[in-house]
Amino acid sequence: MFRSCSFSPDPSAEVTMSDTAIRALPSLASLSESLPPMQPYEAQVEANRCLYCFDAPCLQACPTHIDIPGFIRKIAQARPRDAAKTILSANLLGATCSRVCPVEELCEGACVLGASFKPVSIGRLQRYATDTVLNDPRPLFSLAAPTGQRVAVVGSGPAGLSCAGELAKKGHSVEVFEKRELPGGLSTYGIITLREPAEVALAEVEFLKRLGVVVHTGRELGANLSWDELEDKFDAVFLGLGLGRVPPLGIPGDEAVTDGLDLVEACKVEPGSLKVGRRVVVVGAGNTAIDCATVAHRLGAEVTIVYRRTDAEMTAYPHEYEFAKTEGIGFRFLTQPVAVLVEGGLVKGLKCQEVELGAPDASGRPQPRPVAGSEFLIDADQVIAAIGQTKPTGASVEGLSFEKGYVAVDDQFRTLRPKVFAGGDAIRSTGAASTVMAVQDGKLAARAIHDFLNQGALRG
Ligand SMILES: Cc1cc2nc3c(=O)[nH]c(=O)nc-3n(C[C@H](O)[C@H](O)[C@H](O)COP(=O)(O)OP(=O)(O)OC[C@H]3O[C@@H](n4cnc5c(N)ncnc54)[C@H](O)[C@@H]3O)c2cc1C
Ligand code: SF4
Repeated sequence: MFRSCSFSPDPSAEVTMSDTAIRALPSLASLSESLPPMQPYEAQVEANRCLYCFDAPCLQACPTHIDIPGFIRKIAQARPRDAAKTILSANLLGATCSRVCPVEELCEGACVLGASFKPVSIGRLQRYATDTVLNDPRPLFSLAAPTGQRVAVVGSGPAGLSCAGELAKKGHSVEVFEKRELPGGLSTYGIITLREPAEVALAEVEFLKRLGVVVHTGRELGANLSWDELEDKFDAVFLGLGLGRVPPLGIPGDEAVTDGLDLVEACKVEPGSLKVGRRVVVVGAGNTAIDCATVAHRLGAEVTIVYRRTDAEMTAYPHEYEFAKTEGIGFRFLTQPVAVLVEGGLVKGLKCQEVELGAPDASGRPQPRPVAGSEFLIDADQVIAAIGQTKPTGASVEGLSFEKGYVAVDDQFRTLRPKVFAGGDAIRSTGAASTVMAVQDGKLAARAIHDFLNQGALRG
């Protein structure tokens, strides 16, 4: 069970080791949040580097369009609470985003200072400001008068929470239904502690509860929560269901493969169940693969990432790839797994073959073609799959339509089901999914739901 309260995992937590790798693992402290918080003086000095550009490019580059120069100015004036209000007015999950956003690709990448100097540390300043209010019980926002309208939000990840909080601010009565034991979605269970400890995501949920959002955990649409209940009791429904687990590799020995999301989840909320081998192979080349490799490496494993294309086609961010290389993680490109070797229930290695790249496939990337007679073995006692997540299926998406396997919505986030809206990873059929994009979906969907409810009220 999850140990709460501290912002870093308990370094003395017991770690269960792989049967084949009986050795002393380095402390879990090596996985705790990597960047220290800024101190007030440091934050003011950094804030004073901002040029307060007119028509600031950072503001455009942020998917939630936070008034970045505006909040930085307030930090420079030693008003962190006011800075937090500016941030959270545009992005209620500003504390999470400050930690997990790929700032190099977004706000900081657009900072004009970056061309000749170091960009302003927008993410860290945002974290400094939002951390000051996260656990402060004093209300930051005044709420609109109650409308008497009820909205159900299914899924408590960034999309669902953002939508729920925005609707609560507009005076609607909002209930979130989450199937897991803890709320927060991948911010709680999926993003490695080096970037965001689960405690931050949970503190953010508490902040939203103080806006009036009610959160029910252990309630799963399609299992112990029915469409009938939602549609009878609520005036509108928002689905922020996210995606599923890692799909199987589809090779012999699949049953012995570790699901990359299980590994990350264990190190975040159940460190006692963490299992890491001595020699680990991670299959995949997205950000999750880098995260899994980092966790295993920090716990002392020799790690190789196997990918069937080249570094040019990797879906991981370039800065994540560079980070992995500096960590000492090995890469084998143009290599695809053929079978996991399992003896007596223990993983002994990953049989691979070399590939060459051909014409583009459906994803637009060159199709890997096996090279005849090129099979070889990588010795390993653990194989971790990190090849993406399965698309939404089952009763929770009953009656909806799909685009490339993702839930289809119109430009107002409406699904095919009347009064049902959706957002976040579950609708992201193109481009890279990210927390800040899910937050923006939730915010825009809340506006669309508010308009829909107002129209209903006018008609009524
Ligand atoms: C390992 C990993 C690392 C990542 N790292 C980063 C990062 O560093 N930076 C970044 O920007 N993005 C990162 N991402 C992507 C980011 O986490 C997602 O884009 C974001 O969480 C999507 O939010 P969401 O609300 O759509 O879905 P989720 O966060 O997946 O939340 C969906 C929620 O819905 C619940 N749910 C699902 N079905 C039901 C049901 N039937 N009934 C009730 N509840 C249900 C789930 O339990 C879950 O809590 C990462 C993703 C992964 C997998
Ligand atoms: S939400 Fe993310 S992209 Fe936007 S300003 Fe904050 S750290 Fe940058």
